[in-house]
Amino acid sequence: MDDRWRRPESRGHNRARTAADANAEPYIECRDLFKIFKKAELEVVALRGLDLEVLPAEMVAIVGASGSGKSTLLNILSGLDRPSAGQVRVGNRDLLNISDQELVQYRRLEVGFVWQATARNLVPYLSARDNIELPQAIAGVGSRARRERSLELLAVLGIEDKAERRIEQLSGGEQQRLAIAVGMANSPPLLLADEPTGELDTQTAVQVFELLKDVNRIYGVTVVVVTHYPGVAEHMDRVLHIRDGRISSESRADADGADAAATEEFLVVDRVGRLQLPQEYVDRLNMHGLAKADIAGQEVNIRPASPGSGRRSSEQAP
Ligand code: ADP
Ligand code: MG
Repeated sequence: MDDRWRRPESRGHNRARTAADANAEPYIECRDLFKIFKKAELEVVALRGLDLEVLPAEMVAIVGASGSGKSTLLNILSGLDRPSAGQVRVGNRDLLNISDQELVQYRRLEVGFVWQATARNLVPYLSARDNIELPQAIAGVGSRARRERSLELLAVLGIEDKAERRIEQLSGGEQQRLAIAVGMANSPPLLLADEPTGELDTQTAVQVFELLKDVNRIYGVTVVVVTHYPGVAEHMDRVLHIRDGRISSESRADADGADAAATEEFLVVDRVGRLQLPQEYVDRLNMHGLAKADIAGQEVNIRPASPGSGRRSSEQAP
C-alpha cells in the first residue's frame, strides 16, 4: 500500500468545484478489486481485478451487459457490500478496512443513492418534503435546517409545487427527481445511481440525466450512474464500459468539444498492462489462448499465435 491510502487528512471534497479537474486526486479509487459471491458450492466472481478512478465532481456513467458487475460495484461504493479483495478508497475512507460503525456514518453522510425501483428510494406514506427530511432527521439535523434544505432541493429538482404530495400522487419521473433530492439530503460528496431511468420513457430519462447534471454543477457532487440508456454519453464526462467484472474501455466526448455528440472510445490498459480486447475482435479473429504481440513504432500488433486455428492451447493469457 502506498501513502495515499493512509493519509486521510490530506484529502477532502472541494465543494466549490464546479467541474472535474483533471489534475485533482481521484475521489474514488479502486485497484484490483475483487468480489466473489459464494453460494453453497458455487463461486461467482462478480468483480475480477477492477481498476477505477473518478475525479472529484466528475460525472461518470457505467454501462455493460447484464451480469457484468455494475450493481456489485455500486453496492461496494455505497458501503452496502464489502469487496473480497483489492483496494477501494472513497474520499478519505478505505472501504475495505472500514469498521462497521464507520460504514454506517459513511452511508449516512458521505454517499447518496438512487435505485431503479422508486419503492426502494422513497417512503410511500410520507410527503415529498418529509422524504427529504427523513435522512436529515436520522443524521441529527435540526427541524429548521431540514426544512430549508428540503425546500431548496425540491426547487433545484423542479418539484417545489409537489412538496406536500404523497409518493403515490407523483409520476414516475417526479418520483425519481424526488429520489435524487433524498439522495442529496445530507449533502453527500458522492451520489450513486443504479439504472435510475430504467422504468422511465426516453423523454423523462433525459430530464433525469439533466437534473443529475444540475445537481453535479450546483453542489459539486461526484456522480456515478449505472445505466442502459443509449444516449447517456451526451450527459456525462466519461462513460466506462464494464465487461466481466473489469473496466474494459471508456469513451469520452471528443477533446475539441465542438460536436457534443462525438465521442471517442479508448481501451483501458491497467497498471500491469492488462487489457480486454473488444469482443468483436476476439470473435472475428477467433482469438483464444495464445497470441503474438509485437511492437511497430508507436503501435502494438496482436494476432492469434496460429492464424485461424483459435485452438485453446493454454488457459493462461499471454
Ligand atoms: P449487473 O448489475 O451488471 O447486471 P451484478 O453486479 O448484479 O451485475 O452481478 C454480477 C454477477 O454477480 C452476476 O453473475 C450475478 O449473478 C452475481 N451476483 C450478484 N449478486 C449476487 C449475490 N448476492 N449472490 C450471488 N451472486 C451474485
Ligand atoms: Mg444491476
